Amino acid sequence: MQKAMIEPITKSIKNKKSEIIKFCQKLVKTPSQNGIENEKEIAQVISKRLKQLKIKHRLIGSKERPSILAKIGKKGKKRFILSAHLDTVPIGEKKFWSHDPFSGKIVKGKLYGRGSADCKAGIAAAIYAANCLKNLNLDGQLILAFDSDEESGNFTGMKTLLKKGLKGDVCLITYPGNGEVMIGSRGVLRSSLTTFGEAVHTGSRTQKGINAINKMAKVIQVLENLKLRYKSDKFFPFGPKLTVSTIKGGLAINIVPDRCEIEIDIRTLPFQTREEILEQITRTVAKQIPDLKFSIDYFVYHPAYRIPENSKIIKIILNRSKQILKKEPKIACAGTGTSGSLLWQKGIPTICGFGVDFENLHSYDECIYVKSLIDTAILYAHIIYDFLKEN
Ligand SMILES: [Zn+2]
Repeated sequence: MQKAMIEPITKSIKNKKSEIIKFCQKLVKTPSQNGIENEKEIAQVISKRLKQLKIKHRLIGSKERPSILAKIGKKGKKRFILSAHLDTVPIGEKKFWSHDPFSGKIVKGKLYGRGSADCKAGIAAAIYAANCLKNLNLDGQLILAFDSDEESGNFTGMKTLLKKGLKGDVCLITYPGNGEVMIGSRGVLRSSLTTFGEAVHTGSRTQKGINAINKMAKVIQVLENLKLRYKSDKFFPFGPKLTVSTIKGGLAINIVPDRCEIEIDIRTLPFQTREEILEQITRTVAKQIPDLKFSIDYFVYHPAYRIPENSKIIKIILNRSKQILKKEPKIACAGTGTSGSLLWQKGIPTICGFGVDFENLHSYDECIYVKSLIDTAILYAHIIYDFLKEN
């Protein structure tokens, strides 16, 4: 970027400071809790603002749970996707909040409310970065992709956007935190394992039956000691993780249970495959518990991914952060699964987190630092401008 461009972008966004903050508050005041409200209303609020700002966009997916796609700039050159999700986690019990979770109240430089950090500030910053860039002669295209149903882990909105042909040369997801730039995330493999026994009367004098719950107790011991094979990666120093998270078994107090089922949540690392993990579990359980009848299956799988730390986009982010924030973020990877996995599988290098400073994500008193909202909009605009620039 020419030095000369730094000032106009920064200035143009700073001029809109109070409008950006008010819009972020408006988003927080529009509840979009996953499983409680749908995304229809928040999508309307965003659509109205995009219309006012003369940014072309359309709603995609179901009427009740739409996602939004907006575009500015020139077709046929590079494309930068800036993405944020529309839904939030539920507020939990209102009494535990110091400030109304749907107020967007600002106290001592912090803007409070459910979804403020995850990801409504990101939406506000993205829209105003786009608003600033639309007046510049962009070398390529900026695509805003706001997806529904992220918090369930189903990533329904993102799947729909990708199915409808969302494509880009890079993507930045506005998950909060400008102290770190997330260059990948662990994967998620959700599976279930069932043990089978033989049901008989618990008081039977002639038959013992086979207790599927007792068998499962042994399986859980095996899983607790299981060391999953993986390739170490310095950006995932925490390794993979296997958690037995639910258990279900037994029909009645006087029947020897013939079936017990557990759900296993596995957080994977790059290069670990679903097939290898399920095979390792199956083989280890079968070897250590002879004569066990069991089955294993999976119902969710998003692979882990990481982009190279020397990618052009990372260099731009570090460079601009140094200049604008006077600090360089740490390069890291997320422990949780993100929709970045879906984009990465489509060949789109994805940053799955770089945004506003925050506190209490997914908790009571979720809030963002107002100053970082403006800084983030300025940063996004510069990063996009730099990336799209032909060199
Ligand atoms: Zn979240």
